[in-house]
Amino acid sequence: MTISERISAIRQPEQDAPTCCLCGAQAKAPKAHPDKPFRRLKDGSLAAPMGWKKTADNMRCRDCTRANYITRSVRVRLIGAESGNADEWAVIRKSLNANSALVAKFANWYLQRLLAADLAMQPFEGKLPACPEVDYYADARRLFPTINPQGLGQAARTVRAYYADRRFAVLVAKNRNVDTYRWDGLPIPVHVQSWSLVAEEDRGIILRIGGEAGGSWRVKIYADGINLTRVHQLMSGEAEAGAASFIRRARPPREGEAKGQRRKRSWYLRIAGRFPKPTAKRKRLATKVLTLGHDKECLLYGVTDHDGDEPVEIHAADLRSMICGHRRRDRKRQVDCSTIYRAMPRRKAKRWAAARTVLAAKHQAKVTQVLKEVASHVAWKCERLGVDEVNYDPTDRGWIDGFPFHRLKSALANALEGRGIAFHSTGDDSSPAEAEGDE
Ligand SMILES: [Zn+2]
Repeated sequence: MTISERISAIRQPEQDAPTCCLCGAQAKAPKAHPDKPFRRLKDGSLAAPMGWKKTADNMRCRDCTRANYITRSVRVRLIGAESGNADEWAVIRKSLNANSALVAKFANWYLQRLLAADLAMQPFEGKLPACPEVDYYADARRLFPTINPQGLGQAARTVRAYYADRRFAVLVAKNRNVDTYRWDGLPIPVHVQSWSLVAEEDRGIILRIGGEAGGSWRVKIYADGINLTRVHQLMSGEAEAGAASFIRRARPPREGEAKGQRRKRSWYLRIAGRFPKPTAKRKRLATKVLTLGHDKECLLYGVTDHDGDEPVEIHAADLRSMICGHRRRDRKRQVDCSTIYRAMPRRKAKRWAAARTVLAAKHQAKVTQVLKEVASHVAWKCERLGVDEVNYDPTDRGWIDGFPFHRLKSALANALEGRGIAFHSTGDDSSPAEAEGDE
């Protein structure tokens, strides 16, 4: 091959378009530049067009990604150093605490910068101008050199979103202050290439962290249920990992643990990722049906039509006491607002009423969250039992009067259909008036 031939071979790469490995569709060139060749990476392979996903050896179009993957996050608890050495584990925890505090320090610093930039614009006329751009990066790199650039960006977005929500109250309504606001710990972003999960036969699953400030560690992790399934999917390559960060959260209560007791906080790694959608309907001769309903003891009770399957039981005692507690306190607040304090100044009375509304909204958000968790737990159990169809009978409403069963029903429908399990509701549906009775 002569040199000129070689050069022309380099200059004219094959004009093939990126092709989806699942549906065979070819990427279309942009309308404005129909003849423009597709972008290539340094190694000569085609780059993924916008919205496409490139893996080691093939590419997937946007539609196929949407049809086959769901975006979810996994949370795994760090439980100790791989070596089992308590001192090593203490060093790792210390380093995590220090890093988190450092990210928080940056966040506090950046929040003040945003506020200062806004105050410098004062006074403004008419509409509140857009939040000024604050060029924080160079200063932040100098002041916080151990936070990785990706981590800075992520923390800055958190701060900006926090500030943007409160700007109006701070600058115009002037009923709020952010100049004393302090974060005391923020998630620590981990670069996608600096962590990996490995299954070690005798020691369970090990998380390897390398290249971050604080050196490289090997930490034992704990995951169960759907989280464990997802961890296995990440390790086998069925799922694709996205952003990850260390977070510090209270451990969920163990069974039988006293409620309201202060629980120790643990470090978790939260990993966002694309997980394969559960395959629709496995071929089976007979479909397995779960009949689900309520009774006095359980929020949800279900049995399958197969012998030997364990029943699905969800007591949700915490939810019950949460709802009853809220009602009791709310009734008291209502009495306080209406009778005892009738004599108080109107402005104060208004504030009391507003506080009551806020508390009610918070309570509703909590209930919604719990219902989602309950529904996803049921869906997970159904998947494990191999249930194809769920028949839900909402007639017995003895669990708590006026519980928002309609919301539970839609949460169940969402969670089950998300896993490819059919959901039917039989029996009489609640009338909206009764359903809203918990308010
Ligand atoms: Zn495709």
